Amino acid sequence: MKYTGVIERYREYMPLSRDVMPITLLEGNTPLLEADNLKKELKAPCKVFLKFEGTNPTGSFKDRGMTVAITKSVEDGAEAVICASTGNTSASAAAYAAKAGLKAFVILPKGKIAIGKLAQALIYGAKVIEIDGNFDDALRIVREIGEKTRVVIVNSINPYRIEGQKTASFEIVETLGKAPTHHSLPVGNAGNITAYWKGYKEWSTKHGSSLPKMLGFQAEGAAPIVLGRVVDHPETVATAIRIGNPASWKQAVNALDESTGQINIVQDSEILSAQKLIAGAEGIFCEPASASSVAGLRKLISHDYFSAKDVVVCTLTGNGLKDPDTASRDIAPPLTSKPELSEVLKLIQD
Ligand SMILES: *Cc1c(COP(=O)(O)O)cnc(C)c1O
Repeated sequence: MKYTGVIERYREYMPLSRDVMPITLLEGNTPLLEADNLKKELKAPCKVFLKFEGTNPTGSFKDRGMTVAITKSVEDGAEAVICASTGNTSASAAAYAAKAGLKAFVILPKGKIAIGKLAQALIYGAKVIEIDGNFDDALRIVREIGEKTRVVIVNSINPYRIEGQKTASFEIVETLGKAPTHHSLPVGNAGNITAYWKGYKEWSTKHGSSLPKMLGFQAEGAAPIVLGRVVDHPETVATAIRIGNPASWKQAVNALDESTGQINIVQDSEILSAQKLIAGAEGIFCEPASASSVAGLRKLISHDYFSAKDVVVCTLTGNGLKDPDTASRDIAPPLTSKPELSEVLKLIQD
């Protein structure tokens, strides 16, 4: 069957008129991989699956929501869209705006965007403005522009983003044939945990599937929901979750409560170690923020949280190629050799 993107695939779950033409780059339909090597490494009693969102058209799950937000903007006659971003939202907004023939404006915290993401926003043709502030400052400005002009905000405060992102849950339940018992994911603005929970609930209502417990993880220096207060100067190596005042804070707390899940902290060192482990054990290169879902899984395993009956899905939210700098920082560089067989063999046999 020809794949046509998440709007067509899950049309009946979309709050769009039936005849609207989707603006799509064929996002979604991402791999759900059983991670047996990782399970062994982590000594996990449960089954572990990885939902790798890095295969989306711009390399992150943001594309699932952006196809819906941009499609709706076009339907409403918008001419331009704007977003604040830690990087991936801007890459996705810029790409879908390009496809739709809309102008895209992007407000970014200066110096805190992985180079791959910045390059994407620029090459897709967005007008990129860096501010001397953090993501939360950028979002405040974007909200004001949204109120004062006709430019459409495509951050996850745009409800159509959540509607698209919930399709990842649908894919998981369809692939497994049932819902997992637990779903682990990184939490930044908390749009994604909100979207997954909405998706699981909608699927459950329609098909009678069970519901997972939602497990969220924030980086130690950017953990407002765990701490229960705004963090004024969020810091973490995982720039995609460097958020001090999450836009979907309440909805995330609601998802955690309703699902009897939990939200916890992982340290930057644990995030980077999980990133390396996922790559070496499973052949998947995800970005640092993504690896928090597995860093968190590891932490809960060490607290005997899971049993043999459990099935855990970890979302790997974005592609590691976006941020090669962070990934290369603490791995050994390549070996070097004279261009001679004997020298190379010596290194190989070492
Ligand atoms: C946006 C993003 C997150 C955080 O998702 P929220 O919906 O803001 O909680 C995590 N990882 C990656 C790679 C992202 O792009």
